[in-house]
Amino acid sequence: MAGMTLLAIDVGTTGVTALLVSTDASIVAKGYQEFPQHFPQEGWVEHDPAEIWDATLAACERALAGDEVPSAIGITNQRETLVLWDRETLGSPMKAIVWQDRRTAGICAQLKADGHEAMVAERTGLRLDPYFTGTKITWVHDNAPHVFAGIKAGRTAIGTVDSYLIARLTRGLHHITDASNASRTLLYNLTTGDWDDDLCDLFEVPREALPEIVPSYGEVATTDPDCFFGLSVPIAGIAGDQQAALFGQACFVPGSSKCTYGTGSFVLVNTGEELVRSENGLLTTVAWQHPDGTREFALEGAVFVTGSAIQWLRDGLGIIRNAAESEDLALSVPDSGGVVFVPALAGLGAPDWDPHARGTILGITRGTTRAHLVRATLEAIAYQVRDVVDVMVHESGVKLPRLAVDGGASANNFLCQTQANQLQVPVVRPAVLETTGLGAAFLAGLGTGVWTSQEELARTWREDAKFSPGAMDAKGHRRWRTAVERSRGWASMD
Ligand code: ADP
Repeated sequence: MAGMTLLAIDVGTTGVTALLVSTDASIVAKGYQEFPQHFPQEGWVEHDPAEIWDATLAACERALAGDEVPSAIGITNQRETLVLWDRETLGSPMKAIVWQDRRTAGICAQLKADGHEAMVAERTGLRLDPYFTGTKITWVHDNAPHVFAGIKAGRTAIGTVDSYLIARLTRGLHHITDASNASRTLLYNLTTGDWDDDLCDLFEVPREALPEIVPSYGEVATTDPDCFFGLSVPIAGIAGDQQAALFGQACFVPGSSKCTYGTGSFVLVNTGEELVRSENGLLTTVAWQHPDGTREFALEGAVFVTGSAIQWLRDGLGIIRNAAESEDLALSVPDSGGVVFVPALAGLGAPDWDPHARGTILGITRGTTRAHLVRATLEAIAYQVRDVVDVMVHESGVKLPRLAVDGGASANNFLCQTQANQLQVPVVRPAVLETTGLGAAFLAGLGTGVWTSQEELARTWREDAKFSPGAMDAKGHRRWRTAVERSRGWASMD
């Protein structure tokens, strides 16, 4: 087994990371390539599929520069984004509509007004929000009839980024997606584990244009050497990015959970084979599907603005030079001096869900300094994640034993400690912070027998730091909840 490696391809929202991972779960080579973002109109976000593919090749070329031939490939990706391509040429008739794109807000509002939300939520575990894939296809149906004609005629394939990448890697031989990605489309029925005809009708989707749903690991395809550096490598792992991070953090048993602190923050808790439905703003999603067809599920809370609030302190206000500086500044004061910041800069996601909420700073006095505001921002990240976890614990009935963290802002020790204090459970940070790519490598390795069990994978998890809970600032959290109420509805006053 010596020298054996797995290639993880992580197609994020702004770039592609390729990791070569060894059997002891360490990263031996890495390539990264950014790709362009297109903003053709206010609220629209697009990617050019060809640019995603070019970036994928560039990132992989760098990771594979040492002439190492990986034994398998695992793919993980930005979720929900709609990609269309021609089955013959693999060219795209239009750009991809990215998960962040808000153009279908009107379609969602209409479907809600027509009374469809309860049925959609019941079958998919999701909400009628532009975030998900389904209404993006409806938009193509309504607004790009020439493109839709190709879909209808069977020439044009529909997929998420994983499906598109696999089509490219196999020269169009395979049109597949895994269950974790499928469960983000609004077309996947959580109970049957397959595409749902009623949902396809509702969102104007011809079912034949959708990919075949496959397990999240196990060999499902092989790269075409002509498309991929002369290599014929099995593709043996596929998962959406947050599910891959859950896997990469070895959250294999019910109740195990992780939080990825990036631009926004995503908390997922494994609920095992049980489908837990949320009444309080969390999403129910497939965590992964095993080769025997059994599935494990997760509850997910998506908080939109966390790390990007730190970016705003840097770029919008100019009160910090870099994100890392926020830690020292926060620690330079004993508390936030009564300042509470609700970073609802793009509305509120889970658990409060208010698109009309806006950023709100309360409690400013003559004595307030930038250090207080910076501290209040980091506390706000911890409060938002606590609010999501509180709902998870309430709805799943399982107290979390600990929270595993990753993502850029998890480097901040003050944030991790505040999180542990607020949750009253230990917060643990792994040595390898590339958990998304690692999860894809784990899936590919499990799918090809490089690793034989989840227990074996769990043993490779190495701790970098553990933050034990200290005194909880309960008053601070109560003040925070009051501030959240005051931030609500602000944008609808116009
Ligand atoms: P994404 O994958 O969403 O682009 P990353 O996981 O790369 O995000 O994390 C980047 C985010 O983390 C940025 O929004 C940045 O402001 C924040 N960040 C990075 N380092 C720190 C830090 N030390 N303290 C607080 N926030 C940080």
